[in-house]
Amino acid sequence: MDLQVGDIVLMKKPHPCGSKEWKILRAGMDFRVECITCGRQVMLPRAKFEKGVKKNLSRPENLPKAREGN
Ligand SMILES: [Zn+2]
Repeated sequence: MDLQVGDIVLMKKPHPCGSKEWKILRAGMDFRVECITCGRQVMLPRAKFEKGVKKNLSRPENLPKAREGN
């Protein structure tokens, strides 16, 4: 999966705050991501992070057809 700094990703499981969208702050062996809704930052190994990602919202080919009203 193509994951880069600045990308917004949709996770399979929601954060306790209810958000599933996270922003990638650092990419590499370990990823640092920030919850879009509550601003909480977490760091986790790439393999674990990739498993939890449902889709990368910042990649055009992954964008849903209609995202209005979301
Ligand atoms: Zn959160």
